Amino acid sequence: MGASVALHLALRGARDVVLADRAEVASGSTSKAMGGVRQQFSTAAEVRLAQASIRFFEELRPPLFQQVGYVFLATTDDGLAELERRAELQRSLGVPVERAAVPVGVLSDDVRGAVACRQDGVADPVGVTRELVRRARALGVVLREGTDASELDRDVLVVCAGAHSAELVEVPVRPLCRQLLETAPLDLPDALPMTVEHETGFHFRRSHGDSRLVLAMADPTPRWGYATEVDETVYDDRLARLAHRLPAAAGTRIDRAWAGLYDMTPDAHPIVGRVEPGVFAACGFSGHGFMQSPAVGAALAEEILTGTSSFDLSPYRLERFERGAVFPEEVVL
Ligand SMILES: Cc1cc2nc3c(=O)[nH]c(=O)nc-3n(C[C@H](O)[C@H](O)[C@H](O)COP(=O)(O)OP(=O)(O)OC[C@H]3O[C@@H](n4cnc5c(N)ncnc54)[C@H](O)[C@@H]3O)c2cc1C
Repeated sequence: MGASVALHLALRGARDVVLADRAEVASGSTSKAMGGVRQQFSTAAEVRLAQASIRFFEELRPPLFQQVGYVFLATTDDGLAELERRAELQRSLGVPVERAAVPVGVLSDDVRGAVACRQDGVADPVGVTRELVRRARALGVVLREGTDASELDRDVLVVCAGAHSAELVEVPVRPLCRQLLETAPLDLPDALPMTVEHETGFHFRRSHGDSRLVLAMADPTPRWGYATEVDETVYDDRLARLAHRLPAAAGTRIDRAWAGLYDMTPDAHPIVGRVEPGVFAACGFSGHGFMQSPAVGAALAEEILTGTSSFDLSPYRLERFERGAVFPEEVVL
């Protein structure tokens, strides 16, 4: 997120832009992310941010972005009705979501229906971030790794510190631990889309650059806090779910697993904009910030430099929490 804001500030001609990371760029949640890029959310506020970012990913092309689509499967009539309701909202905003066939190789016996968006896909979060940083530096942005942002002499501070943002400015952002599991190499169908079970939230994608799968599902009990240990007790359950949904993967094992932090807000929508005099923030992305970073970077840079943004940032303002606004995003995978 910081790399995107810095790049867009530079593209608009801002001088003396410093991209500071107290560790290394792309070492935080971005390095742990699934890399899913989808426009299929349950609220217009989230759809719009992902929608405004999709062109950027398309232009990156493979291997940084693979436009393999995102398929949501419903195994109940209620689930299918909910997917249809969401698809209607998404289509009304211009996202091409349609009823879809179950992907090749995916078990369909218990599936009542599926919806898909072929524009969605999977990206390489670290590779994309490095590309943003490369472009930003080419325009004069100074990269300072190993530097705490609070130590910088600055006119304007932009807080993009992920789950650690509340250490720099007062924002209701809390860390939530989430983990990803990677299987052994498999014989997979070509162009397997990101496949999501609507009712359980279990989902998987082909891993970046090889024939493994990366699996994810919310923990049985949410793990709030900064600890990022892998919980191995769920492996058998996740492998059983995978064997059921993708029979070709039966018998595989988990070769690697890692955990990272979601930066959660009370309504699962981000905080974007001015938060104090001279301080702006882009944080609280609640598990789906990587895919929104192109639009957020562009909009926030415009607002910082001109005082206003042509992209409507009003749903993401910090002040909404004072008014008790609640319009929670439901598709937090
Ligand atoms: C398991 C998992 C799966 C995910 N899957 C997806 C997905 O499929 N799609 C998607 O869009 N999103 C996904 N996300 C969410 C996504 O990773 C984040 O929303 C996004 O990466 C946030 O980017 P960021 O730049 O805001 O934060 P980060 O990537 O965490 O970067 C923040 C940076 O700030 C630095 N920092 C912290 N404090 C300071 C300080 N005081 N001074 C200077 N630097 C500081 C850190 O070192 C870090 O490098 C996932 C997250 C996890 C954990």
